[in-house]
Amino acid sequence: MAHEDCIFCKIITGEIPSAKVYEDDYVYAFLDISQVTKGHTLVIPKTHVKNIYETPSEVAGELFARVPSIANAIKAAYKPIGMNLLNNNEAPADQSVFHIHIHLIPRYGEGDGFSSNWTVHTEDYTPGDLQTIAAEINSEIK
Ligand code: AMP
Ligand code: ZN
Repeated sequence: MAHEDCIFCKIITGEIPSAKVYEDDYVYAFLDISQVTKGHTLVIPKTHVKNIYETPSEVAGELFARVPSIANAIKAAYKPIGMNLLNNNEAPADQSVFHIHIHLIPRYGEGDGFSSNWTVHTEDYTPGDLQTIAAEINSEIK
């Protein structure tokens, strides 16, 4: 079901133009208008869902099922030396378009435009803490 104010739903219908990479009954893949690296592609489900929290497993299954072949196509076309997948959920985590999408960002080497910087806090968590956290998350799985 298309969402009337959603730019990605409008891309699927062709109302907003895009550089289409692939399309089938379930997914649409197109170049990110802001190319981080050459071939930076977004893969979206044709079903409008806001983000990972609201994605039914069947939609997630159809979406992710197509990611490997698209990743391999980018690899074959441009010979990147690596590839990062990125999925941002909610504005504080940098989601700016609220129709779930997977970024495929081919990597070409240092200074190619993408970096994933994070600071680890390994020393803050004992093995017991990790067991507790894992159990707390597990208890919420529906
Ligand atoms: P995110 O910040 O993870 O929500 O990513 C949204 C992405 O959509 C950004 O990288 C934008 O460059 C991209 N984007 C926004 N509008 C368009 C558009 N009309 N065509 C292609 N990509 C778009
Ligand atoms: Zn949408």
